[in-house]
Amino acid sequence: MRYVSTRGEAPVLEFEDVLLTGLARDGGLYLPDSWPVFSAPDLTSMAGLPYDELAGRVMMPCIGDALAEDDFARIVTDAYSGFDHAAVAPLVQLSDDEWLLELFHGPTLAFKDYPLQLLGRLFDHVLNRRGERLTIIGATSGDTGSAAIEACRDRDSMDIFILHPRGRVSEVQRRQMTTVDAANVHNIAIDGTFDDCQDLVKGMFNDISFRDALKLSAVNSINWARIMCQTVYYFAAALALGAPDRKVAFSVPTGNFGNVFAGYAAANMGLPVRQLVVATNRNDILARFFDSGEMSVRTVEPSLSPSMDIQVSSNFERLLFDLAGRDGAKVCDLIGRFRETGSMVVDPQKLTEHAALFDAGSLDDSGTLAAIAGMHRSSGKLLDPHTAVGLQVGRDIRHDETVPMVTLATAHPSKFSDAVEQATGVRPALPPRLADLMERPERATEIANDLALVQDFVRARSKATA
Ligand SMILES: *Cc1c(COP(=O)(O)O)cnc(C)c1O
Repeated sequence: MRYVSTRGEAPVLEFEDVLLTGLARDGGLYLPDSWPVFSAPDLTSMAGLPYDELAGRVMMPCIGDALAEDDFARIVTDAYSGFDHAAVAPLVQLSDDEWLLELFHGPTLAFKDYPLQLLGRLFDHVLNRRGERLTIIGATSGDTGSAAIEACRDRDSMDIFILHPRGRVSEVQRRQMTTVDAANVHNIAIDGTFDDCQDLVKGMFNDISFRDALKLSAVNSINWARIMCQTVYYFAAALALGAPDRKVAFSVPTGNFGNVFAGYAAANMGLPVRQLVVATNRNDILARFFDSGEMSVRTVEPSLSPSMDIQVSSNFERLLFDLAGRDGAKVCDLIGRFRETGSMVVDPQKLTEHAALFDAGSLDDSGTLAAIAGMHRSSGKLLDPHTAVGLQVGRDIRHDETVPMVTLATAHPSKFSDAVEQATGVRPALPPRLADLMERPERATEIANDLALVQDFVRARSKATA
């Protein structure tokens, strides 16, 4: 399998280099040169497989020769063995034609565990084979940091440094990072905002000699391998509901456009998808785009679903590549104009041609609270606020009542217990694996918002080697 950059200038790479590189050298994102396609008989033969076996089958064409099939199968089985539900990604029926796909059974209770648990192991495997060590750096406002730490902890081939804004992440989110007791995990509490943390990370990557000396790498959602891992649960859900003989619709709470893009990838790989609902909170830039063809930025407003408080969705560039006829120069042009003016326009004809699967809608905080309360009243079930946005927007804009609608439940309600309690009066309990989270000792180093001080800290603790 060969991978090309959305901006058309970076070298064409095979899977292993795409995995370790993340962002392409021309600033673009990697995508398969052409989608691997499963036929209807292929899909039929996958129905009923355990999650890890299905995952191996779905991802193997994307991996190509990078890993032997049995090595990959062993790594995948290991990645999902710690999830606390036998189905890994169970489907829960809500009504005749509505389902929730629960993606919160991993170690940190959000869907990001599904790609990151596998990514950490793939990195480790490749680095050990090459005899290399990396330094992973990231900034987090919440879910990504803890999922990345859990994925990289205790791995000899990497050290991980996660920056979070001191006093500005929820207590559960902070403790999920700071209570991890592993020698290669380093939490840095920055005296500043999330944007300050991101600027510090960018500053470290832009310092070329520092970046090369410490072999910096990132595990954010621009990495193709994350998208690849996320296609698997779309296959699992659709096969369970009758694919390839029946079409399925999905509603996806969206921030960086990574998760819903994985649904688009699955459709391109032959899965019979009828509709992909892009569900946003009050930060509705994507909803406005799919309505009008115009992408225009506004300021980010905080909401009850903080993991979707995003204006510029990094993974959107992958769809833009198709909208621009897979012409990297056109993508550069559109992105350049967007950077300069805060706005870009895509030909509505192209949207109809290449993005017909997508429909988008948004829900504000009061709608989110009402959706959580409504579900609790009717069924006793608690939804996290991100999932509630997905469910309600999916109900509002679904096309076809005869097609099952699957909402991706992206976090466990206990991860956002304040919002859930505000809506229902009930405070959801943490699952057993985290029941003692509030008593565990925390480890974090407070550092001022100062690039040189953060670099000194990283340099003193990283064991990276070329
Ligand atoms: C990250 C996250 C999202 C948004 O996913 P994207 O891939 O960025 O669109 C939604 N819900 C939760 C709980 C998340 O952690």
